[in-house]
Amino acid sequence: MPAERLEFPAGFLWGAATSAHQVEGGNTCNDWWRFEQIPGVIRGGRGSGDACRHLERFDADFALAQADGHNAHRLSLEWSRLEPARGRFDPGAVAHYHEVLASLRRRGLTPIVTLHHFTNPLWVADAGGWEARSTVDAFESFVGFCAREYGHEVDWWCTVNEPEVFAFRGWSEGLWPPAVRDNSRALQVLAHQLEAHGRAYRVLHSEDRIDADGDGLAARVGFAKHRVQLEPLRQWHPLDQMQAFFENRVFNEAVEQATVTGTVELSIPGARSVLRELPELKGALDWYGLNYYTRWMVRSLQPVPHVVRPGALLNDLGWEVWPTGLQRAILAAGRLGRPVLVTENGVADATDRLRPRAIVEFAEAMHAAIADGANVLGYLHWSLLDNFEWNDGYHGRFGLYGVDFDDPERPRTRRRSAEVFARIARANAITDEARAAVGE
Ligand code: BGC
Repeated sequence: MPAERLEFPAGFLWGAATSAHQVEGGNTCNDWWRFEQIPGVIRGGRGSGDACRHLERFDADFALAQADGHNAHRLSLEWSRLEPARGRFDPGAVAHYHEVLASLRRRGLTPIVTLHHFTNPLWVADAGGWEARSTVDAFESFVGFCAREYGHEVDWWCTVNEPEVFAFRGWSEGLWPPAVRDNSRALQVLAHQLEAHGRAYRVLHSEDRIDADGDGLAARVGFAKHRVQLEPLRQWHPLDQMQAFFENRVFNEAVEQATVTGTVELSIPGARSVLRELPELKGALDWYGLNYYTRWMVRSLQPVPHVVRPGALLNDLGWEVWPTGLQRAILAAGRLGRPVLVTENGVADATDRLRPRAIVEFAEAMHAAIADGANVLGYLHWSLLDNFEWNDGYHGRFGLYGVDFDDPERPRTRRRSAEVFARIARANAITDEARAAVGE
């Protein structure tokens, strides 16, 4: 018996997401590049280097997305390329991103443009990075520049990517630059990123007055939130429950609520709390960008507080593949009263053994959330290509297309996942044809 055909709303966005530093190659002027040179910080010892050489190959890469029926693409503008020194914009880099945006438009891919995806120009990092308030000012002027320069080509702006991941990885866990381990400083950084989002929201709306796609809206501004699902490992254990509750509060709820209420209220036991009213942040959200990957089970009083659920299906990085979590995350995000755009979701799976099925199941979970009343605008799969996976180097392979990092001239390898995704995107529905392409 054929399974049900599950339709998505008209105009739904289907595409993939990338970030500049992870795919372009040669981003030598940012803090990540410098960090990658420290022995031992990147798994396998290989830094971003040439990455996917997407800097040169972007048009051919977008051709793959176009051929697969994508109608949108999320990318980021590399701040360190565009503004290698404070206030000095590089004309070659500025022209490059015009070419990138023109290629997307030619290929019918709506650009969703992220302005901060983890990396910082060296001059920003060396002037105190995101602990310094001057960085919020510097970011605001960078955003103003981008709005004026690219506003006629871009309507969908994503200000900052995962401010909570950025702050905790770099300033609490010490795994990312600047490798600090201090929760109080992490909360400061998070507050500054939220403030930066609020200011960017205002600047984008005032400086981008040109409606690029003719839908009557010149700028639609959101941010991308990593909404991990956190649950007590032992459901009955009051300390596990409490820890899961407080982590969820600071990592998920406090961050997302700030973008609507304008109140930044962040606290972690033992750290200096932050309480700030930011008028520019109040109501600063046209859409909620949801990055969803996994759930972690939280256990109290343990050196490793997050573990996977016993018996869970795991991806190559040891993260649980749990599609129901996407439905829950969408519904939780939707409580803010803004439409949700899934800005990232994917599976690290070098051999493509899990991803084809996961794509169908993630789409089903998203469909279920819509049936439950969520307003979902689209879905951007992480990622179009295998790419530089931060600390995990080239170990986490998230691409619909495989990349041969030893032979940069080789064409990308199309995975079965790309076909499954293409069938869903072309039909704007989960069909029997898409399910058949899972091919198990
Ligand atoms: C980030 C991406 C990253 C992905 C997979 C997200 O947290 O935005 O840059 O590659 O997760 O780890």
